[in-house]
Amino acid sequence: MKRFLIEVRPELCTGCLRCELACSEVYTGAFNPSAARIKVQVSDNECSISFTEDCTYCGICVDHCFYDALKKRLEEKA
Ligand code: SF4
Ligand code: SF4
Repeated sequence: MKRFLIEVRPELCTGCLRCELACSEVYTGAFNPSAARIKVQVSDNECSISFTEDCTYCGICVDHCFYDALKKRLEEKA
């Protein structure tokens, strides 16, 4: 599987959670944000974005972000 470097721009995040829904659907077969490997936290109109240790950097969550809060580029092989 391809791995990507993922850049986050929390200032563009709307908190829509499409990324969490996509990740959980792919890896657990259910739309369950709490099972997602990307974690978006919204507080006081600010978002923070992080990834769990289980993240494979597959980039699927990036493909489902419509707001440019996530960007990916292929990880270069050493
Ligand atoms: S890169 Fe893949 S495994 Fe990591 S949070 Fe996004 S969809 Fe989930
Ligand atoms: S990172 Fe993108 S898809 Fe995820 S909550 Fe923020 S705007 Fe939505």
